[in-house]
Amino acid sequence: MKARRLLWQLYPSYLLLILLLLLAVTWYVSVELRAFHYQQTKLDLRARTTLVEQQLASRIAHAQGGQLDSLIRRLGEKSGTRITIILPDGQVLADSREAPHLMDNHRTRPEIARALKGEEGVSIRFSNTLGQTLMYVAKPAVVDGRIIGCVRTAIPMTAVERTLSSIYPKIAGGGLLIAVLAAIGCLWLSRRLSQPLEQMEMGAQRFARGELALPLNVSGSKEMRRLGEAMNQMAKELAQRIEMVSDQRNEIEAVLASMSEGVLAVDNEERILRLNQAAKSLFAVSDNPPQGKQIQEVIRQADLQLFVRRALSSVERTEEELVFRGRQECYLHAVGSPLYSAARERIGVLVVLHDVTRLRRLESLRRDFVANVSHELKTPITAISGAVETLLDGGAEDADTAEKFLRITSKQADRLNALVEDLLDLSRIEQGGAEGGWVLTREPIAPVLESARQACDALAKKADVEITSTCQEQLVARIHPPLLEQAVVNLLSNAIKYSNPGGRVVLEALSRDEMVIIKVQDYGCGIEEKHQARLFERFYRVDKARSRQLGGTGLGLAIVKHAVQAHRGEVTVVSQPGSGSTFTILLPNR
Ligand code: ADP
Repeated sequence: MKARRLLWQLYPSYLLLILLLLLAVTWYVSVELRAFHYQQTKLDLRARTTLVEQQLASRIAHAQGGQLDSLIRRLGEKSGTRITIILPDGQVLADSREAPHLMDNHRTRPEIARALKGEEGVSIRFSNTLGQTLMYVAKPAVVDGRIIGCVRTAIPMTAVERTLSSIYPKIAGGGLLIAVLAAIGCLWLSRRLSQPLEQMEMGAQRFARGELALPLNVSGSKEMRRLGEAMNQMAKELAQRIEMVSDQRNEIEAVLASMSEGVLAVDNEERILRLNQAAKSLFAVSDNPPQGKQIQEVIRQADLQLFVRRALSSVERTEEELVFRGRQECYLHAVGSPLYSAARERIGVLVVLHDVTRLRRLESLRRDFVANVSHELKTPITAISGAVETLLDGGAEDADTAEKFLRITSKQADRLNALVEDLLDLSRIEQGGAEGGWVLTREPIAPVLESARQACDALAKKADVEITSTCQEQLVARIHPPLLEQAVVNLLSNAIKYSNPGGRVVLEALSRDEMVIIKVQDYGCGIEEKHQARLFERFYRVDKARSRQLGGTGLGLAIVKHAVQAHRGEVTVVSQPGSGSTFTILLPNR
């Protein structure tokens, strides 16, 4: 059933109640008024009857009918009352309206019968004589203690009814006016009662919509005020709690968002409860909220789905390393912990994904490096031990053989030395970077280039290569001079080594777009495109045999790269097989 407004529940009830009351009062008043009027009429008639009886009793005794008749007629006319004198046998002696001989015997009339017994008789009935309803009051006429007849007075009830009917419309009119006033009053009262409640209801709806800042207008009765105050208090506490909860949620959001680990919460039905930013970018999930979706829909990684399933079925913490083969291979260390609700019910699993790709790559690099170093060390050591064994086996007895093997030993020892020195340099540069970086100062570039050139002079002469060096005047940059010199020396020595005899190497330094550019250009054998990207890796060589023959360690360019990175710069190569190569160091000039 549809609930009605309180106003329309209160108002009709009040109105009905008041109308019923009004009706009852009107009815009661009408009845009482009629009774009062009858009573008054009766008293009036009684007084008239007594008067007539007092005056006419002696005449009745002498039965002077004719005289009486005219007297009664006069009296009756003047007082507007019908007066009848009746003898004890019921015969009418005189009547103010009718000739007595035309009237029948009145003994049986109720009022007459009582009066003849000596009592007062009252009766309201229809008069056949007059053809209308009359009120009769009869009294005995007593002379010397003897009833000699009775006197009856009567007036028509129409007169009484006329008076009453002139009063009834006034009562009805008054009642109607009161009813209208009561209807207005009821409406006002009902509104007064229902309005604060409606205001409360609107306020409660506002609170339900979350608009808690504006308090309710507290007015009306004491109960309403209390209710309003209680609701305002409730809204205040609700606002405080919401603020607290949203603060906590924001804190959790902030923690999750700032985590570099991917966080994924999944419910027991494998639906996503939460996915932080790191996890989104890890799995390339678009920004629209994936909450509530099945994990298979959002993250298409079978390994992860299996892990989540395993973690969901386990009561313990689950750990596993997952490999994702997307655009790039990536290694994730996944930890799954059971998720419980406040009621300690299992609601899902929380998976934290730590990207260990870099760690794995570093491990792999380290393994490769150790293998490479061992291999590089093994070659000269094998050569040296071979030569020494040959010498011990009698090779030393022949002077030429002895010299040949001693030279081999010396050359391999130099190679070992060069290798160890390069390794130490590399480690020193890396160490410097790891310990808070190299200290860079604004220094001129020209002296660095000059000293590098000088360091390579002997090698250039031996290889019959000419070095031309140009440097822009006043060129300065934030550098660590010995480190930069080592990088330039390595590039220069490579350029000399891979130039043809009679060739030329150009060393140039200039400033452009807030960068300092140091170029080492040769016109030697050049490098094929496919090798260029990997040149700066440790132990990477284009031609291993040639490099070894030239005394290379395969670490020269790796040292250059690290030295330049220590300057927050970069090194690039442009090369054309057969035409030569240009190595460029770019350093920031600020
Ligand atoms: P290496 O000690 O063998 O020279 P580097 O790291 O200095 O080692 O160089 C790596 C490889 O790059 C060399 O083996 C060589 O093949 C190639 N390379 C370096 N510089 C030049 C150059 N100027 N011209 C041609 N090839 C070069």
